[in-house]
Amino acid sequence: MHPFSIELSRISARGLSLELQGSPEQLFAEEEREFVILTPVVLTGEVTKLEEQVFFRGVVSTLLEMVCSRCLETFRLPLELAIEGLFLPAPSHWDPAADFFRADEGAVDTYYYREGRIDFGELIHDQICLALPLKPLCRETCQGLCPHCGQNWNEGRCECREEYIDPRFEILKKLQQS
Ligand SMILES: [Zn+2]
Ligand SMILES: [Zn+2]
Repeated sequence: MHPFSIELSRISARGLSLELQGSPEQLFAEEEREFVILTPVVLTGEVTKLEEQVFFRGVVSTLLEMVCSRCLETFRLPLELAIEGLFLPAPSHWDPAADFFRADEGAVDTYYYREGRIDFGELIHDQICLALPLKPLCRETCQGLCPHCGQNWNEGRCECREEYIDPRFEILKKLQQS
C-alpha cells in the first residue's frame, strides 16, 4: 500500500488531520533523481471533503542533497513546501498507467482518485519537482571551479595567471563599487 494514501472513509464531516511519511523511492523513479533525499518525506495537513471533492492543504518537508552546478560539490537543501490539491473521482475510462494523473480543472492542482482511496504521491512528487532549482547552487556566492586547473575557488585561489571572471560577478562587482 502506498504510504501517502488514505481511505476516503476516514475523512469525516469535520475533515481529517494527516501526518504521513514515506521514503523517496516511493515518489521518484530512479532515473528521475538528480538529487538524493536524505530523510523521509513527511506530509502534514488537513483534508476536507465536500460530496465527492476532496481538498488537501498542508506542508511537505524533507532534506535533499544536490550537486552544485558551479563547484560540483554536494550540498544540502532543506525543503518545506506549502502545498494544496483537489482530488476528484476518476472518470471510468481513466487508466493510471496510460493517462495523466492530473486533471486540468483551474487554479488548484487537481488529481484523480478511485476505489475509495486518495493518493497524495503524485501531488508531492510534482511539488518537489517544481521546487527544485534549475541551477542548484551550494550558496549564492559560490565561486565555482577554475576552468584551467579545476581548483575549487571556494577553497582558495589557484596559481593560474589568467583569471576567468564570471560575467555575472563582474556585474555584481560594478554594482558594489557604485
Ligand atoms: Zn558551489
Ligand atoms: Zn587554476
